[in-house]
Amino acid sequence: QPILEMKNICKAFNGITVLDQVNFSVKKGEVHALMGGNGAGKSTLMKILTGIYAADSGEIHIEGKPVSIKSYDDAQANKISMIFQEFSLIPTLSVAQNIFLTRENKTSLGLLDDKECEKKTEKLLEELNVDIKPTDIVQNLGVGYWQMTEIAKALSQDAKILVMDEPTSSLTKTETEVLFNFINQLTEKGYSIIYISHRMDEIFEVCDRITILRDGRYITTETISETNLDTVIQHIVGMEFDQAFE
Ligand code: ADP
Ligand code: MG
Ligand code: MG
Repeated sequence: QPILEMKNICKAFNGITVLDQVNFSVKKGEVHALMGGNGAGKSTLMKILTGIYAADSGEIHIEGKPVSIKSYDDAQANKISMIFQEFSLIPTLSVAQNIFLTRENKTSLGLLDDKECEKKTEKLLEELNVDIKPTDIVQNLGVGYWQMTEIAKALSQDAKILVMDEPTSSLTKTETEVLFNFINQLTEKGYSIIYISHRMDEIFEVCDRITILRDGRYITTETISETNLDTVIQHIVGMEFDQAFE
């Protein structure tokens, strides 16, 4: 049973359909690529999942149960978190302060002092195998670690499904490798990742399955494996998809 199912999602803006009966389903512990040319509807689908837009019709199920996601808070309550490209971190604060102090106080954690934050952060970073210290000031870290801090923050808020929209766009090759290792660890721990990207090489390296959208319509979901590569590539080539060949 999938951890997440979006069924027959429809959305129009000003009478123009941008999502037409789209289906999208994610399993526990997988990295699921969402691919499609510019304007295919990827971001809109994820904004519906995270409560930023409301769907005109369709259903969202989490672990088999229908849920109503009307705000980003609702998404978080359903263990869905968006890893924004513009990180929501405060650069002059430490990793620990960013993870625990700067959030709205909507968990049961209550107000923590710095020492408590640092302890909790240390434990979290250890679990995640991230080699930075809770007291490191975010602006002194590389962008790759900003992203990991952002992800650690999401996980500290109990996220189980992470949405990453072009997460490597501002990373170096080395930072990208570190991120991919990190993603693999997360999936081994049972987290699910929705991975939006135009990069075929990255998708083949890090993703388990791929769903392809075209002009707001659902095309197919495929497993990414050696034996299925030809099929996947044919579907991708079937899209008006210049970016795939950059
Ligand atoms: P993708 O992320 O796949 O590039 P988007 O989901 O951003 O595609 O956009 C899908 C279509 O919806 C595009 O034609 C876009 O112009 C339109 N669209 C997205 N958001 C809005 C909005 N807030 N108002 C009007 N049109 C929008
Ligand atoms: Mg987009
Ligand atoms: Mg994996």
